[in-house]
Amino acid sequence: MARIPVLDDLGDVNGKRVLLRTDFNVPLDGTTITDDFRIRAALPTIEWLDSRGADVACASHLGRPKGKPNPEFSMGPVRARLAELAPGVELLENLRFDPGEEANDPDFAARLIEGFDLYVNDAFGASHRAHASIVGPPKVLPSAMGLLLQREVEVLLGLRTNPKRPFVAVLGGAKISDKLGVVEALLDVVDALVIGGAMCFTFFAAQGKSIGDSLFEPDQVDTCARLLESGKTIHLPDDIVGVDADGVFATFGTRLPEGAKGYDIGPGSAAAFSDVIMESRTVFWNGPMGMFEDERFAAGTRTVAQAMADTKAFTVVGGGDSAAALAQFGLDDDVDHVSTGGGASLELLELGDLPGLEALRGAPNANAGDAS
Ligand code: ADP
Ligand code: MG
Repeated sequence: MARIPVLDDLGDVNGKRVLLRTDFNVPLDGTTITDDFRIRAALPTIEWLDSRGADVACASHLGRPKGKPNPEFSMGPVRARLAELAPGVELLENLRFDPGEEANDPDFAARLIEGFDLYVNDAFGASHRAHASIVGPPKVLPSAMGLLLQREVEVLLGLRTNPKRPFVAVLGGAKISDKLGVVEALLDVVDALVIGGAMCFTFFAAQGKSIGDSLFEPDQVDTCARLLESGKTIHLPDDIVGVDADGVFATFGTRLPEGAKGYDIGPGSAAAFSDVIMESRTVFWNGPMGMFEDERFAAGTRTVAQAMADTKAFTVVGGGDSAAALAQFGLDDDVDHVSTGGGASLELLELGDLPGLEALRGAPNANAGDAS
C-alpha cells in the first residue's frame, strides 16, 4: 500500500497557496462557540505552513445546512475565533452550503481548488466521508495530511497493530448498534472489554436479567449473547444507579425491578472498572458510563474519567460525548490522546482505513522520493 504523504512531502511551501481542509464543525449556541477545541487542534498545522511562508486558506463544513446557504450555519463565528488564534489565515464559507460537497461533485471540487497549489487534509473528523473537499483535491494537487490527522492515524492504527498489553476497551453510550462494528473489530485485539452506559442493559437482557424500563435494544440481544460467548473477558456492571418506578433516585443490583430505569453504573462497578483501567497498559474509552449530563448520574463517568487520567497506561478517548465529559471534569489534558473525530475514530479502528486517507495515498506526490 502506498504511504500517506506528510507535510514534508510537499517540498518548499514558501509563497504557495495552500488549501487546508480543517474540521471546524464546532458546537454553537446561537453564534457563540461553546468549545473551540477543534479550532485549536488545527493550529499546529496552520503554524507549520505559515512559518514556512505558505499562504493558507482553511475550508470546513459546519452543521447540516443541506446544500443551501443558511446564515444559521455561517462560518462567521469560527472566522472571528480563528482571527484571534491565527491572524491572517483565511477561512472559506461553509462547504456544505453547496450541494456538491456532500454529493462529491467533481465540478465543485474543481472550483474549490482553483488558485491553489497544494492541499492539506487536517480534518480527521470528516475523513470517513467521501465528500468533495476530502477526496477531490488530492486527485489533482500535491497533498499531505496535516499534523492532527497524522497523530490521529498514528494513535488509532497503533491500537490495532501493536498495543502494549493488557489492552482494554471501555465502552458506553446509548446504543450498542452504533458501535457494533468497532466492538467486533476490537474484540480481536483487546484483552478485555468493559461495558457501561445504556448498552449494558442489552447485555443484561442477553443474560436473562430483568432490566425494568431501562434503555435497551431488543434486536441486539442475540448479538450481545454471541459476544458474551466469544470467550473474551467482558466486564459488566454489578450495580446500577437510576430511578425506581416512582421516579425516585435508587441504587440497584443487576436485576432491576419493574418500572425502574438505570441511568448510570453504580459505585461498586465504577470502582471495579477503575481498577481494570489502572492495571492496563493501553486503554481506549468510548461512550459515557451513564447519563452524565444529569449530575445525579455523572458519578460513574467521572470515576472512569479519573482512572483514565490517573493510570500509567497509554490512554485514548474517542467519541464526542466522552470527550465532552472529560472536558467537563477538567481531565482532558490528563489523557494521552483525545480524538477529534467521533465517527471517524470508530471507523478507523474498525476498518483500518478511511476514504480521506485512501485519497491522499493517490495524490500526485504520494510516492515521490520514496521507495516503499
Ligand atoms: P460518544 O459520543 O462518546 O460516542 P454516545 O453518543 O454513544 O457517546 O453516547 C452518549 C449518550 O449516551 C449520552 O448522551 C448519555 O446521556 C447516554 N447514556 C449513557 N448511559 C445511559 C443510560 N444508562 N441511559 C440513557 N442514556 C445513557
Ligand atoms: Mg455521541
